[in-house]
Amino acid sequence: MSVCDACKKEMSCADVTACGARGHIEYPDGTVLQAVPYDPGRLSFPKWFRCPDCNVAPGGAHHPYCDQEICPRCGGQFVACDCFTD
Ligand SMILES: [Zn+2]
Ligand SMILES: [Zn+2]
Ligand SMILES: [Zn+2]
Repeated sequence: MSVCDACKKEMSCADVTACGARGHIEYPDGTVLQAVPYDPGRLSFPKWFRCPDCNVAPGGAHHPYCDQEICPRCGGQFVACDCFTD
């Protein structure tokens, strides 16, 4: 059980299908991009499969710091990419 810092919702709750606070991502250089919604097909999961890390439904925005989130800027794993390092 854990509550998202951004949307303040319980992530394990089935009613929470997306992070309501994760619409756009602002990068240090001022670039603002739309967050990439969760796509189970990209990970070879069935299309109904909820995010294994943050439990959002397919098509929903991940909660921030989910390790399955894709960076819309570089296409890499968001938590591991270099877009936020100086
Ligand atoms: Zn959230
Ligand atoms: Zn997720
Ligand atoms: Zn990146």
